[in-house]
Amino acid sequence: MGGRLRERIGFVLAAAVMLAVLVASEPRARILFSEPRRVLGLYFGTAPSGLPIPVDDVEPAQLVDSWHAPRSGGRRHEGIDIFASRGTPVRSTTGGVVVRRGENRLGGRVVSVLGPGGQTHYYAHLDDWADIEVGDWIDVGTTVGFVGNSGNAATTPPHLHYGIYRRTLPPLNPFPLLTGAAGS
Ligand SMILES: [Zn+2]
Repeated sequence: MGGRLRERIGFVLAAAVMLAVLVASEPRARILFSEPRRVLGLYFGTAPSGLPIPVDDVEPAQLVDSWHAPRSGGRRHEGIDIFASRGTPVRSTTGGVVVRRGENRLGGRVVSVLGPGGQTHYYAHLDDWADIEVGDWIDVGTTVGFVGNSGNAATTPPHLHYGIYRRTLPPLNPFPLLTGAAGS
């Protein structure tokens, strides 16, 4: 076997191993490979021009636009804080697939849902998660968790931090989408 061929086989093997590691470690990749049509349908679907408020019994007039307000460590607020009693259900603003259900330092207990237009909807500071798992396909209004103040919200009243992320573009301000001001 020539050195060149061996090199090529080595390259293909390395690529296969990297792909396997990616699929095993990255929920999105795993979901993509298990249901490629549905996931691609989301990525190529149209992003919504308006969204329901993800917290029960909150009206648009109660929402406050805190987009890009200063936050600790020189960060800027990349979302909206929706205040409500602890334990109030948090519902998905879109259909899509659960790509994260876990904990991180800032967000505490969090859920991320990949929705139409390839947008990722981020629900943070949850008191607890609903009965959902990564890979679950959910509808608009499916309960993903319950309002709390986990993560760096421990010293604030319970609220949902809701953010909308895009793959290659900056995050979106949810406020106009939730209040109906975004139009189409
Ligand atoms: Zn926030």
